[in-house]
Amino acid sequence: MIRLLRAPNMMMAQHWANLLEQANISCTVHNQYLQGALGDIPTDQCGPEIWIEHARDEVQANALIDQSRRGSTSVAPNWHCPACEEWLEPQFATCWNCGASRES
Ligand SMILES: [Zn+2]
Repeated sequence: MIRLLRAPNMMMAQHWANLLEQANISCTVHNQYLQGALGDIPTDQCGPEIWIEHARDEVQANALIDQSRRGSTSVAPNWHCPACEEWLEPQFATCWNCGASRES
């Protein structure tokens, strides 16, 4: 098993895992249990990770995910607060943490 990448949230992780499975790339989503138990851990260190079983699939797996990131409009991306660096879901126009407005 090798770690492919970290997803910004569980929804993206599942979405990417599905894409990989459709391409016959064996993969697993790790760290799911940390979602919802963020506490003191910085968000960027406890997001779900995608692991793939075979290193030979890495190039193809990255290509699929890249494609999905650029082309997909079905999953709106999270945004990053410019003031406090909190990650926010796309339905929020302002940061719940510090009140800053979303930059577009
Ligand atoms: Zn903020």
